[in-house]
Amino acid sequence: MTPPAEHIAVVGAGAAGLATAIFTRELNPARTVILLDGAARPGAKILVSGGSRCNVTNTEVTADDYWGGKRTIIRRVLRALPVPSTIAFFERIGVPLKEEGGGKLFPRSDRSRDVLDALLRAADDAGVTVSASTRVHAVTAGSGFTLQTSRGPTEAGAVVLATGGLSLPKTGSDGGGFGIAQSLGHSLVPPTPALAPLMLSNGFHASLSGVAHEAELTVWYDGRAAERLRGSLLWTHFGISGPAALDASRHVLRGHLQGRRTALSVSFVPGESFDAVDVRWTARAAARPRTSVRNALAEELPASVADALVAHAGIASATLLADFSRTDRRRLAHALTALPLSVTGSRGYDYAEATAGGVPLEEIDPSTMESRKCPSLFLVGEMLDVDGRIGGFNFQWAWSSGRAAAEGISRRR
Ligand SMILES: Cc1cc2nc3c(=O)[nH]c(=O)nc-3n(C[C@H](O)[C@H](O)[C@H](O)COP(=O)(O)OP(=O)(O)OC[C@H]3O[C@@H](n4cnc5c(N)ncnc54)[C@H](O)[C@@H]3O)c2cc1C
Repeated sequence: MTPPAEHIAVVGAGAAGLATAIFTRELNPARTVILLDGAARPGAKILVSGGSRCNVTNTEVTADDYWGGKRTIIRRVLRALPVPSTIAFFERIGVPLKEEGGGKLFPRSDRSRDVLDALLRAADDAGVTVSASTRVHAVTAGSGFTLQTSRGPTEAGAVVLATGGLSLPKTGSDGGGFGIAQSLGHSLVPPTPALAPLMLSNGFHASLSGVAHEAELTVWYDGRAAERLRGSLLWTHFGISGPAALDASRHVLRGHLQGRRTALSVSFVPGESFDAVDVRWTARAAARPRTSVRNALAEELPASVADALVAHAGIASATLLADFSRTDRRRLAHALTALPLSVTGSRGYDYAEATAGGVPLEEIDPSTMESRKCPSLFLVGEMLDVDGRIGGFNFQWAWSSGRAAAEGISRRR
């Protein structure tokens, strides 16, 4: 029997699947929408996000906040639900947002639970049927679609894949959706963790565990600076975390994946060149010769970082600026502006907030999210080859791609 074309199956009830289902029903109440999720309680990732506060979006979102597929395509998808519309949508479903540093927008209540509850309530109000504990094992296309699920087969006229990537697999996002997309004709940009803490081999981090400060990380490919990521850096017992390290992780891991000669360095004086630091410390030595190098450093960096840096540069910590040799000063300037960090890997998908790689953007129509490989199949959210930097950008991608798909579905005849 041919399934009615107006019956839509959305696979995955995370941020992108929920948004797609709600907007599809709101735009076209004549369509029935079933939202299938393998987890007993969908939306687990929304609950744990943003330290259980859910950084829903950012005041300013552009294609430059994302990596992966072409920015021109990302820009078109983002246009489907710009930030003001996202804010208005959450306000409408009972989740007013408030702004924090870096333009991050959180629910005013500071509770991710409120975001998830509001989305589930909005889905219910819109008439979406949510089917939890329903894992989709396979999808086949014919005159419609047949979905093989853990509760038996079901039919649909259109299918939306919103199964996420591989990050935090215990929430149900284990990459199974990639296999389904491939079985329907799609290819896959090989995935790696993104927004993941990095493990280091050199001992520099060991004594600094728990210390955070502003820094700039540079990712080097084949001896050339490929990316510079500025923000707070957190030293841990295994290596580095915090926004700067999380943003850098996908570049390091993509470099390794692509077999490039990849290196990472940290600047403790973001924006300052080696020469500028050298000149500044020369002037400092002239102005305050009786101050020790270590104490002068501790005026601008946490004391433990100052200790680690003088030790790394091989400078006795009691050395006075008056006795600071040109060689030592230049060695310190090098350590301050480009200390090499030896990355052994990341903490993996269990700790990654996102997935880089996924279904290539060229394989979807960005104005509708419809597959160019399989008509009436739509793909949204993190399963696509897009990953945002830290700050609410990954959720915005989920909301915008969900809206674009809903508009695409409502325009189908
Ligand atoms: C710890 C953590 C904190 C984060 N914090 C933030 C933040 O504050 N701000 C931000 O913007 N981003 C944040 N992110 C990233 C953000 O959560 C994701 O980018 C976003 O949730 C992706 O949404 P999605 O709907 O595409 O995929 P997911 O949220 O991964 O949802 C996919 C859903 O599909 C279901 N599923 C998978 N396969 C199948 C199948 N075969 N059959 C049925 N169901 C299936 C899964 O159970 C899951 O519910 C965070 C991520 C993590 C891990």
